[in-house]
Amino acid sequence: MASYFDEHDCEPTNPEEQYRQNALLELARSLMQGMDIDLGPFEVSDWDQRLPPPAARAVTQNLPTVVITPEQADKGLKCPVCLLEFEEQETVRKMPCEHLFHSSCILPWLGKTNSCPLCRLELPTDNKEYEEFRKDKERRKQKEHRLENLHGAMYT
Ligand SMILES: [Zn+2]
Ligand SMILES: [Zn+2]
Repeated sequence: MASYFDEHDCEPTNPEEQYRQNALLELARSLMQGMDIDLGPFEVSDWDQRLPPPAARAVTQNLPTVVITPEQADKGLKCPVCLLEFEEQETVRKMPCEHLFHSSCILPWLGKTNSCPLCRLELPTDNKEYEEFRKDKERRKQKEHRLENLHGAMYT
């Protein structure tokens, strides 16, 4: 039977991705150990340079809970933040990306920033500026895409 991580093929492939992922997990872990994390000064324009704002409260509060099955416990499925194996019948939180975490590990993290520490999937935020930035980025991407298509259509 395929493992959890084989089924959810989300292991990073290039070294830079790996580095960024580890950095996020490190941050999440130090948060759990009660270390205060300074996420830097608040400036509007450089969202690319720093961690996005906290996940929307409504989203965090409604993050589904699941109960660890005997199969998952047998496989030694771990919480990616604290690296402790989940126990059978334990109630944990499931992110939309299907990654599982202890409530006590993921909730403080989502109170700091909106992405999954493992795969960086972003949850909606309550921050209007950030949501604007995100939409804007999406629009720019689509525009570039259209230009590329147009270019392709003209020159092929
Ligand atoms: Zn944990
Ligand atoms: Zn994830």
